[in-house]
Amino acid sequence: MSFHPTRPLPYGRQNITEADVAAVTASLHADYLTQGPTVAEFEKQFAQYIGAKYAVAVSNGTAALHLCALALNVRPGQRVITSPLTFAASANCVRYCGGEVHFADIDPTTGLIDLAKVRALLEVHPKGHFTGLIPVDFAGLAVNLEEVRQLATEFGLWIIQDSCHSPGGFFIDSEGQEQRCGNGNFADLAIFSFHPVKHIATGEGGMITTNSEALYHRLLRLRTHGITRDPADLSREPDGGWYMEMQELGYNYRLPDLNCALGLSQLARADAGLARRRQLAAQYDAAFAQIPGVTVLAPGRPGHAYHLYVIQVADRRELYDFLKTKQIFAQVHYIPVHRMPYYEGLGWKAGDFPLAEEYYAHCLSIPLFPTLTDEEQAYVVACVTEFVTSNEQQ
Ligand SMILES: *Cc1c(COP(=O)(O)O)cnc(C)c1O
Repeated sequence: MSFHPTRPLPYGRQNITEADVAAVTASLHADYLTQGPTVAEFEKQFAQYIGAKYAVAVSNGTAALHLCALALNVRPGQRVITSPLTFAASANCVRYCGGEVHFADIDPTTGLIDLAKVRALLEVHPKGHFTGLIPVDFAGLAVNLEEVRQLATEFGLWIIQDSCHSPGGFFIDSEGQEQRCGNGNFADLAIFSFHPVKHIATGEGGMITTNSEALYHRLLRLRTHGITRDPADLSREPDGGWYMEMQELGYNYRLPDLNCALGLSQLARADAGLARRRQLAAQYDAAFAQIPGVTVLAPGRPGHAYHLYVIQVADRRELYDFLKTKQIFAQVHYIPVHRMPYYEGLGWKAGDFPLAEEYYAHCLSIPLFPTLTDEEQAYVVACVTEFVTSNEQQ
């Protein structure tokens, strides 16, 4: 092969432009470093982008999940169902509040939680046994939230949609309408992360979206120590202009102006980045369709936001090592949450969710990010092909 990449190729990376640098520099010269007007502007524009009524910027996606669990009053002993195939934070937020995490296995053709299995789990227990659902738009493929809402209504559950992988993604509802991930039409709350490998980067950062005004106000208070200054919410007559009340135990989970300036600048390019991700994914789909031995997860799904591009191969460990020698830094998403020593300590074990475990045994996320060039992508395809074909001949 003649082409050799001039830079290492990770599975994902941020795209910082001169416009981003200028936006952050300008914000450094502004009056506020933390809670200035850029926070509200970023929230407003993000809510518009997602199609939700309200957005609350927070310090990271994990803080977003924690605040959601608090706002929905998760209590010790309450049981919440999520996917075993996700980043641990999707489950941890329940533990922060003392709740119990339960799982339903995945649909191996999509990597998403299997809603038939969720229903089966709900049906073998009396109503009220579980209190909430945390579906995850894994890799960028949207969960059918309309179906999740039907389950939630039937069994009296709340929904936190973990959309960290899917800003700009959507599913098609039963009336043929596109429903954007996190638009608040079905889930009570949805969360996003602005970690550099995600679609929009702010350094650390996260966002919660909702259509519920009550939850929105609660989140604003929880984000800043449980403190409110809103005259409408005060329990006493103010004794001066400084007056505020800490009404419940909250946190400092604010996202600074500085980071929001970067987020706003990134958000302006979100559609272009998403389009490029989809184009690269389609090119991978076409290339790997020719290569027996490489299975592509959920090819050609409408609305896929492609945070990750996942392939499955027989010799995953060897392919991972081989690609590393070629300066391609693939990654595995994810070691199933129930197999983490912490969760095993809570009673989960190997074999509990065999489809997620089988998926884990073969999956590999290969480079996918907007600045990946066609040449670099062709190089990745060539390296994967070289590995798979030489392994077949042995
Ligand atoms: C990245 C991610 C999170 C956590 O976001 P942070 O901003 O890193 O805290 C949660 N859930 C999923 C599915 C993620 O990919």
